[in-house]
Amino acid sequence: MDSKMMRLSRRDLMVASGMLAVGAGSGVWWAQHDLVEVDHHGLSLQDVKTADAALARLTAGNKCYVEEHFDVGDGRRTVSRRQETSERQHPYAAILACSDSRVGPEILFSAGLGDLFVVRVAGNIVDPRCYGVLGSLEYAVEELKVPLIVVLGHEGCGAVKAAIRVIQEKVELPGAIAMLAATIQPVIEASSEPIETALHKAVMANVEASVQKLRTDGPILGPRLKQMNVAIVGAVYDLKSGLVRFLTE
Ligand SMILES: [Zn+2]
Repeated sequence: MDSKMMRLSRRDLMVASGMLAVGAGSGVWWAQHDLVEVDHHGLSLQDVKTADAALARLTAGNKCYVEEHFDVGDGRRTVSRRQETSERQHPYAAILACSDSRVGPEILFSAGLGDLFVVRVAGNIVDPRCYGVLGSLEYAVEELKVPLIVVLGHEGCGAVKAAIRVIQEKVELPGAIAMLAATIQPVIEASSEPIETALHKAVMANVEASVQKLRTDGPILGPRLKQMNVAIVGAVYDLKSGLVRFLTE
């Protein structure tokens, strides 16, 4: 049986039973997943309308990714899904992520077409001079009614590391990279810690700084936050384990 036939067969079984079949090498095992259970009950991702539900969905999707169930998102990347979403979109979360090639949100969260509204900029920064970031997220909340914004930083972030090196080693960065790093610098504590230790702390602080800016900057997100129309949370992705840790209070 070729891999395509196998995949179709698994999906048919998945729909029929509400279970997910995952192949590993020549073996196949069964596991129950929130993602699939929801599908089994006839709900689509368009029914994820609250921040809690969106957070649960992201968490479940990341769990699938960490456990190497890489085909979970496939059903959201089909021709029929493309056609379904061609007229309109109902993403269930907006993600502000770093541009790093290793942190693509759709991959980390086992998501597909129309699921996530993604804004990416090196260092996942929010800078009033860069209205594209804030404006995009305001659009996601105001027009697309996205219930959740996630600021997704990651361990080993090169942009944050650059900002640390400017402070600790007095390096001079060229062009607009210097301004990007300058946006991150206020969150970095002056210390003589080894850069790797300092980097972990700075990544966390940088995520938190972006979360706070989104909560307070601009005329839209703050009020929507108070009205409970949207939640804004931070998260940090680990490049090695694949785990996304949400920094919820
Ligand atoms: Zn980065």
